[in-house]
Amino acid sequence: RAKAEGRGIHRFFEPAMDVAVQARRGVELDLRVALAEQQFALAFQPFLDLTANRIAGFEALVRWHHPARGVVSPAAFVPVAEETGLIVPLGEWVLRRACQEAARWPDPVRVSVNLSPVQFRTGDIDATVIAALRDAGLDPHRLELEITEGVLLQDTPSTLAILHRLKGIGVRIAMDDFGTGYSSLGYLRAFPFDKIKIDRSFVADLSVRPDALAIVRAVTTLADSLGMSTTAEGVETEEQLAHLRGAGCTEVQGYLISRPVAAEAVAPMLGGA
Ligand code: C2E
Ligand code: MG
Ligand code: MG
Ligand code: MG
Repeated sequence: RAKAEGRGIHRFFEPAMDVAVQARRGVELDLRVALAEQQFALAFQPFLDLTANRIAGFEALVRWHHPARGVVSPAAFVPVAEETGLIVPLGEWVLRRACQEAARWPDPVRVSVNLSPVQFRTGDIDATVIAALRDAGLDPHRLELEITEGVLLQDTPSTLAILHRLKGIGVRIAMDDFGTGYSSLGYLRAFPFDKIKIDRSFVADLSVRPDALAIVRAVTTLADSLGMSTTAEGVETEEQLAHLRGAGCTEVQGYLISRPVAAEAVAPMLGGA
């Protein structure tokens, strides 16, 4: 009887659910094809060391060159890739590709790669990172991994163990989008990050809200005393840059310095061929 009733309810809601499920399934199928047919590419956005006044490295940002929809931004497909688990093979592809590119850059220039919480849950992420470094012939010191609060929120002992293991072989670990979550300060105690990326929402407010400058100053001071460096994200104006210099920020990244560029454009930016 319950079964019959359940079936009736299901039929009643079917049309609306069908649309959502099919849309999601469509993106999922598209993503599977995209992985198989190599429709993904990496864009690279430099981060500038303010003390040395030179490019310290590039962040790898995934792009989907969809045959019909054109370039799709990660905000539109990374969540689906995470829900379906496809972020695991996609994330491995990003890591391998990023390490291969970086191996061609001059020695001190680093590459940073964004990792999803899902890669820590289902993937053999430390082994994947080590294999990507080895196969590319890239020194671990030249790789940075960017994680968000979501990774530490999982609060599994294995997540911390994985991060410690990677840090132990020389890979740098950065906390991305700092200040946007719930208890960011707690995470600074949970793990010794090499770098804190100050979320671009604080940078955007620098010229208009005095409290944003106070917060940025507090973060750089805190990071400094914890032995961590800071990177300000989303720097778009000279005025913001001046504030960030004044606040003692280590590195800056944003459209003012450069938009994300294709892999071929990296060498010329470094003064190479
Ligand atoms: P994120 O890691 O915080 O990356 C910074 C985002 O801000 C990038 O957007 C970048 O293009 C954009 N951006 C940089 N400078 C400026 C600026 O001056 N102004 C403004 N308005 N935006 C700026 P993008 O490439 O669309 O990536 C969005 C997010 O998608 C990333 O945020 C990251 O969380 C995620 N993502 C990108 N690539 C990957 C990847 O390979 N794996 C995973 N798991 N996530 C990725
Ligand atoms: Mg990032
Ligand atoms: Mg960020
Ligand atoms: Mg951000």
